[in-house]
Amino acid sequence: MDAGFPTYRGRMEYVCLDCGARYPGDSLLYTCPKCGGVFLLENLDFDKLRQQSGEEWRNLFDTRCASRTMAFRGIFRFYELLAPLMDEEDIVYLGEGLTPIVEASPALRDRVGLPFAYKNDGQNPSASFKDRGMACAFSYLKWLCRRHKWDEVLTVCASTGDTSAAAALYAAYVGAPLKSVVLLPHGKVTPQQLSQPLGSGATVLELPGVFDDCMKVVEMLAENYRVALLNSKNSWRILGQESFAYETAQWYGWDVTDLCIFVPIGNAGNVTAIMSGFLKMLDLGIIKNLPRLFGVQSEHADPVWRYYDAPKEARHWQPVTVTPSVAQAAMIGNPVSFPRVRALAERFVEKGGERAFQVMRVTEQQIMDAMIMANRHGHIACTQGGECLAGLLNARLLGLIGSNEHAVLDSTAHALKFAGFQEMYFNDSFPPEYQVRPDKSLANKPELLLPESARNGKAVDEFARLGAEAVVKRLGLQKK
Ligand SMILES: *Cc1c(COP(=O)(O)O)cnc(C)c1O
Ligand SMILES: [Zn+2]
Repeated sequence: MDAGFPTYRGRMEYVCLDCGARYPGDSLLYTCPKCGGVFLLENLDFDKLRQQSGEEWRNLFDTRCASRTMAFRGIFRFYELLAPLMDEEDIVYLGEGLTPIVEASPALRDRVGLPFAYKNDGQNPSASFKDRGMACAFSYLKWLCRRHKWDEVLTVCASTGDTSAAAALYAAYVGAPLKSVVLLPHGKVTPQQLSQPLGSGATVLELPGVFDDCMKVVEMLAENYRVALLNSKNSWRILGQESFAYETAQWYGWDVTDLCIFVPIGNAGNVTAIMSGFLKMLDLGIIKNLPRLFGVQSEHADPVWRYYDAPKEARHWQPVTVTPSVAQAAMIGNPVSFPRVRALAERFVEKGGERAFQVMRVTEQQIMDAMIMANRHGHIACTQGGECLAGLLNARLLGLIGSNEHAVLDSTAHALKFAGFQEMYFNDSFPPEYQVRPDKSLANKPELLLPESARNGKAVDEFARLGAEAVVKRLGLQKK
């Protein structure tokens, strides 16, 4: 059965989290023109969605699993909850979303002492969760270009690597009138991440400094010039990233009662989106209660942890200066979405209790050890995925999680993007500022069985025999 594309359309408005000003959703805005505050998008016709019961929504979303409508194959399976403005022709689908939730291998589960799973967001098209937000932002841009008959739009973003990879990919696919420019901190993204916007044909510009510096530049450009900003100040990206929450709830049969979700916090867009997604589902009766959500930060970039670690009365927002972190995609000292986190965490805790939202802090050492451990058990965690596992281990140690609970860890990117950190671990070559000392027993490297010269002048069979002998000797194989 095919449900077909919905006829429902929402009325989207930007709401400033500082001064409360509202602006219509059909203009490109990033920060409040009155006060500079960040926005969340609100659907003024959200109430109309209540005409369907929670059960009807659950059934509709489950029915769409089998739909052949292109738009339901990715994040827009949850169209009504995201940005219900676009028509079917606007929706960009590159295979994002619906990433697998893989239960921890039995041996890893036993080591951690708790059942848990990884949601492999590295299995998105540009190999990180950023594709969820980009699919929404680009679909919105297509809708906007059609509506305003724009003939050229320059998209720009600053990036710790993955935002630019995603932005460049979607811009390359959509083509005219969109063109993509990305701004990177020189030497602060991995070679794999750098290869992505280059391969997609984006204009790649670099500045010395760190991500926070590039972000400032891009903000100045967006305030004063005609460009479309694709950083997480772009509220449309947040909506797309809510899909992580919808998919997780759906996978667990819409029962998230005992779930504990772990997510790394960098610019804080993802954690915002996940809270927002679960709150919307609760609001519509799609889920009966909230899961628990744990943000995780490294000691080397921990402003959000610091804020929530203080007693409620003494909480005070203060950006930090970051030091090098293997969780490089989350190495951000002044997260632009912090006001969103504060606003949503308040609502989340109000509905789910004090334990519903917490922030954990982990060391660089714990992040690397956890990532290596996960991947040696058949997972494909990136360093941020390692960070989540380190957060789970700490939460377990501190008695914050019971053995009746089930954790879901967001591995936000594919392990391959961060292969360089694995290499430093295996070669014991971390620069001192990372403060990582590898467990040498885990070092893994290729072994050359015969010298290069062994191949020279030999027939294929003769060489194969030599090769096989070398393998037999190395492994101590017995004849059958
Ligand atoms: C962007 C990114 C993060 C941080 O997410 P925020 O939404 O900025 O908090 C974490 N991991 C990876 C792989 C990322 O690309
Ligand atoms: Zn404002």
